[in-house]
Amino acid sequence: MAKKRAFITGISGQDGSYLTEFLLEKGYEVAGLMRRNAVSELGNIKDLRDEIKIYYGDLQSPESIALSLVDFKPDEIYNLAALTSPLNSFSDKISAIMVTGIGAVHVFERAKQIVPDAKIYQASTSEMYGAPTEVPQDENTPFSPHNPYAAAKEYAHRMAVMGRIDKKHPQFIACGILFNHESPRRGLNFVTRKITAGVACIKNNRRENIPLNEVGEPIVQNGKIVLGDLEAKRDWGYAPDYVEAMWMMLQQEVADDFVIATGEVHTVGEFAEEAFNVVGLNWKEYVITDPKFVPPVQTGPLCGNPAKAKKILGWEPKHKFKDLVKIMVHSDLAKFS
Ligand code: NAP
Repeated sequence: MAKKRAFITGISGQDGSYLTEFLLEKGYEVAGLMRRNAVSELGNIKDLRDEIKIYYGDLQSPESIALSLVDFKPDEIYNLAALTSPLNSFSDKISAIMVTGIGAVHVFERAKQIVPDAKIYQASTSEMYGAPTEVPQDENTPFSPHNPYAAAKEYAHRMAVMGRIDKKHPQFIACGILFNHESPRRGLNFVTRKITAGVACIKNNRRENIPLNEVGEPIVQNGKIVLGDLEAKRDWGYAPDYVEAMWMMLQQEVADDFVIATGEVHTVGEFAEEAFNVVGLNWKEYVITDPKFVPPVQTGPLCGNPAKAKKILGWEPKHKFKDLVKIMVHSDLAKFS
């Protein structure tokens, strides 16, 4: 039997790389769309280069998406590419909608013309809930985005649902409303990774080549990690668990929306406390705050109810909060020695 073919936009990102490994393991042929960099940087997929096909392109270029689909003819498409930082989206609102919102529609529309039977996964996000009035949130909780990234994601989400219910040309587009999921491959501009990389630099007494944060400053300054709102509440899971849920959604007969979450909520301060606990240090001595890392409009508390995913997909998170923090800290201790 011919191998199934999966096409992933954003293949070099955190989720794209874990999904690639997962699908190769399942016997898929995997291809991905990547932006061409000035230097040949494959990021998280550099070790997989010989096992996958790369198409250079951009979500803002429908032509590049079309050429890849014509050539690869995927059975499944995972649209993971996006500008993923909610905080940075405030200072680049146009790119947020052009890439994360309209870019997704380019994928849906080109797929409709070229591979109309392909099943599509759209990477929706819990950020679409904004500051929700109900906790936990599920598939019926109203969206009320509080940042440009989330607004762009809501637009893509609604266009996905529209594609699904289109009577003339219905498409299979499943939306995963994923709550935060982290890993050692998370970008250093995200708070969890800033904390675990910072903990590693402090514990290892690293003084040079300190990794940089989202504003281009060293993550550790004068022996301290600088964070935003320590009371921000999130539901953090482990990325490899979450990419399995994406695949499960495309194995269904009918496309639908699914919340993917752990159902456990923690503050940023608790994440920092747990990360410093892993190396036997007291977090209060090493963390300071700066309002520049607090978004102008706050989101949360975010806490998901994954009951539908459990019932219909049979999905459950395999890792809990403490496992996640430990995995990330240990990885960064080795990386920033
Ligand atoms: P990530 O690590 O930031 O990866 C995003 C990928 O998108 C990168 O490979 C990036 O490539 C690519 N990209 C950005 N702009 C592009 C463009 N114009 N054309 C083509 N590719 C472009 O994000 P992630 O954590 O893996 O997340 C995957 C998806 O899930 C995203 O859509 C994200 O919004 C969504 N999501 C994530 C979470 C989470 O907690 N991780 C939660 C809910 C939803 P470059 O390297 O070239 O920048």
